[in-house]
Amino acid sequence: MSTHYDVLVCGAGPAGACAAYEAAVRGLRTLLLEKRPLPRYKTCGGGVPLTVGNELPALVPEAFVEATVTQMRHTWNFGDAHLADINPNPDEPPMSLWMVQRAVFDHALTARAARAGAEVRDGLALRHAEPEGDTKVRVTTADGDAYTANHIVGADGANGLVARLAGLRPQRLLAIALEAEIPHRWGDGHPALRPEIAHLEYGVRQGYAWVFPKAGHLSVGAGMFGQRSAEGRGEASKAELARWITGYLGALGVPRRAEEIEFHGHPLPIWSGAETVHAWSGRVLLAGDAAGLVNPLFGDGISYACRSGALAGRAIAEGRAAGWTEVVREHFAAGHDAALTLARFFYQFPGVCYRMGVKHPRGTRIAARLISGDLGFDAVLDRVPWKALMGGKKLAR
Ligand SMILES: Cc1cc2nc3c(=O)[nH]c(=O)nc-3n(C[C@H](O)[C@H](O)[C@H](O)COP(=O)(O)OP(=O)(O)OC[C@H]3O[C@@H](n4cnc5c(N)ncnc54)[C@H](O)[C@@H]3O)c2cc1C
Repeated sequence: MSTHYDVLVCGAGPAGACAAYEAAVRGLRTLLLEKRPLPRYKTCGGGVPLTVGNELPALVPEAFVEATVTQMRHTWNFGDAHLADINPNPDEPPMSLWMVQRAVFDHALTARAARAGAEVRDGLALRHAEPEGDTKVRVTTADGDAYTANHIVGADGANGLVARLAGLRPQRLLAIALEAEIPHRWGDGHPALRPEIAHLEYGVRQGYAWVFPKAGHLSVGAGMFGQRSAEGRGEASKAELARWITGYLGALGVPRRAEEIEFHGHPLPIWSGAETVHAWSGRVLLAGDAAGLVNPLFGDGISYACRSGALAGRAIAEGRAAGWTEVVREHFAAGHDAALTLARFFYQFPGVCYRMGVKHPRGTRIAARLISGDLGFDAVLDRVPWKALMGGKKLAR
């Protein structure tokens, strides 16, 4: 006989770990399955708004925050540098961005779920899921064991299997990003390489590059967020992104040859409009990257993964799983749709946006507020003087 759970969560990233925590803390019998042994590496810049802490009760930030960013240094083709404070005005509420290593951060979230009572099984992949009768889902794992659950949460990332098995998100569009971790000693290289400064470069075709500070290394990456395909691949795009990464290191006075760098590529399921994210009458729910919740303008997904995972756990506990697509729409659609329109403009006219938006005296503060959820993307969209900017031209779709 198979073991039965109220909730089986597939994937111990931020979405899955938050879903498991919220379900378990509400007394549901919860299993969190992760295919890789934990803690596991995840290709990611690891930049999160401090406000993500609001989604994570019972966690101590000191356990996973490696650096706290309060300034951003923007460049255009490595020139025209603009260093700006996130908090230029002492009268405004202070904000910052946390820099985390995903192996540490995600493991802290999983440990929190376990403390709340979730059973965690790592190194074990979900292989198959199918409805069993009207009220259960039957899951088979890589070791051949079978489980049943009232609900499963597909929090298995950009290439999630659960979505495919449930026939959800068949047309998913993926962007590509590349990242490398470069050991670093503070004091070496460009004077602006400091633990409180995040570096952002906007010359990248349809995207941007970043250098994020961590305790003993730099997370250097580049992504094409405006360009998406069904596979999220393309060797030519990867080679182009790798050149931006080596170029960035050179420009910051810490040069590396490409052969010395271990590049990690990973697809990003950028939001492209509201989709159906539940199936089998709410027995299957998708969250995080599996639900396509990466923000189309900035390409960040951790806070949306945490939030959607937590909401999924709560929706199940409160008997609202059959309305999950509506919950996702209500919480994310207005902001992400507006971000998509802004992204189309930004990545079509990056030079104009750099001069008029990024370098605007309030630009960095506005970006931090958007990332933190303190300001809605829809509110910014309403304020953009479209007619003046477009001069009668249409945005490319
Ligand atoms: C290069 C790069 C840089 C990024 N930088 C940032 C950034 O700075 N800030 C930010 O907010 N976002 C960033 N992102 C996006 C961010 O990484 C994702 O949005 C985030 O990881 C989504 O979390 P998740 O829990 O939905 O999925 P994931 O973190 O991908 O977790 C999914 C988990 O499911 C597991 N899994 C998959 N299949 C199975 C299976 N069959 N059975 C069991 N387990 C399974 C996987 O092993 C994985 O652990 C970046 C992404 C990339 C590619």
